[in-house]
Amino acid sequence: MKGVLSLVLALCLLGGCAKEPQVIDVAQTQQRTAIPGQTQAVAPSPMPAGTPAPYITEATFIVECEDGVNLRESSSSKSAQIGTLQNGDRVKVLGYQSQRFARVQLEKNGQVGYAIAGYLRLEDYSEFGLEIVKPQEKYSYEQMLADTETLAQRYTDLCSMDSAGESVEGRELRLLVIGNVEAPHHVFVQGAIHARDHMSALLCVALAEKLLQQGGEEDVCFHMLPMSNPDGVTIQQGETFSEQVQRIYTSDGEKGLSVDTGTVYLSQWQANANGVDLNRNFDALWENIDSTEGPSFMNYRGEAPGSEPETQALMAYTDRYDFDATISYHATGSAIYWEFGEDAALNAQSLRLAEAIKEVSAYEPLGDSGNSFGGYKDWAMLKRGIPSVTIEVGTRAAPLTETEFSNIFLRNLGVFPAVAELLRNS
Ligand SMILES: [Zn+2]
Repeated sequence: MKGVLSLVLALCLLGGCAKEPQVIDVAQTQQRTAIPGQTQAVAPSPMPAGTPAPYITEATFIVECEDGVNLRESSSSKSAQIGTLQNGDRVKVLGYQSQRFARVQLEKNGQVGYAIAGYLRLEDYSEFGLEIVKPQEKYSYEQMLADTETLAQRYTDLCSMDSAGESVEGRELRLLVIGNVEAPHHVFVQGAIHARDHMSALLCVALAEKLLQQGGEEDVCFHMLPMSNPDGVTIQQGETFSEQVQRIYTSDGEKGLSVDTGTVYLSQWQANANGVDLNRNFDALWENIDSTEGPSFMNYRGEAPGSEPETQALMAYTDRYDFDATISYHATGSAIYWEFGEDAALNAQSLRLAEAIKEVSAYEPLGDSGNSFGGYKDWAMLKRGIPSVTIEVGTRAAPLTETEFSNIFLRNLGVFPAVAELLRNS
C-alpha cells in the first residue's frame, strides 16, 4: 500500500439517522437542493488554508459524475465557484473538511479548491491496503458473513466471532469482537440498522480489517456488529417482493407514501422484515416519535418499544459488557450526532467523543438530530448512560454509490484509534 493511509487519531459518536441536510453540489445544479423537511443545523467551520492531508499523501482520485462538480473557493456550497471538475478528471485529495467537502488539487492544471468528497473515487483500491474486504456498491449479508469469517480465521489471536441473536427471518446478527474481552475498555459499533444505509456495513468490516492489520488497540475491545438489520438489507438489495413486502408496498400506497416503481421502492427500504424502522423502535422517548401508521418501508416505530427481535438483540448485547462508548454508523449526511436527553454530564462525554472523531474525520458534530427519537444511540444514552454517537458518513442520500466508499473509508480510518486513545486517557 504505497504511500497512502498515513492515518492519525481520534473518534466518534451518536445519533439516529437524523434528518440530514442533503445538498448536492454538482455543476449543473447551481442552487442548494434540500430534501423536504430537512434543515441545516450548523454553518461550515472556517477552514485553515493549508490544512495538511491527514489520510492520503500520494493517491490519485478520479472524478465520477454525470456532468460536472463545482470546485469552490472554500468548503461551503455558498462560497465562490472557481472551477468545475469534469467526469474523469484526476485529482489529489489534500484533506477532508467541513462535513461534505474535500480539499483537492486538479492534476491537469494544479488548481486547488473544494469539492463534494462523494464524487471522488480512489483510482486504485489497492491503496486502501485491504486484502479481504472488497469495496462494492451492494454489500450483502452473505458477503458480510464470509468476510467476518475470513477475518476471524486470519487473525485468530486478535479477534473472534460472536452473535447478538437473530433477525425476524432468522439471519444471524454477526459480531466481530476485536481485542481482549477482559480489556478495561469496550466499544460497541453497529452499522446498517437502516437497510438502505448498508454501505455502513461494508465500512464496519473494512475498518475491522484495518484495525486487525494494526494489531488492534491496546486496552480497548471493539465489538463490531456490521449489519444490525440483515433482513432489511436483503430486501433493499433485492429485486423481487416477498408477500410481506408486497403487502407493505400496497399499504404504503394506500397511505399515500412513497410508492414509486417497485425497484425504486425497494431501494428506499429502511425497515426490517416486519416493516418496522428499527432505529425508531428503542425505548427512548418512543412515544414522541412521529411514526408512520402501521408497517412501512420507513419510519414505523412498531407496536411497542423493543417489539422487534433485532432491537431486543442489540439491547441484550449492550448489557453483556460494560461499554464505554457506542458508535452507530448511518449513511445520509456527513455529521456526528452526539446529544440526547437531559443528562448534561453524559452529553458532555458524548461531545468529547464527537470532537475526537471530528479531529480525524472532519465530520461536523451537530448535537441531537432534532426530532428523532427511539434510536439505538438514544436508548444507549437515555437508558444505559453510555456516551454514544451516530456518524452519518455519506455526502449524498442513501443508498450510497460505490464512488462514495473512497471518501467514507478514508475519513473513518482514524476513528477507532482516536476513540481508543480517548478512552485510554480518560
Ligand atoms: Zn440511517
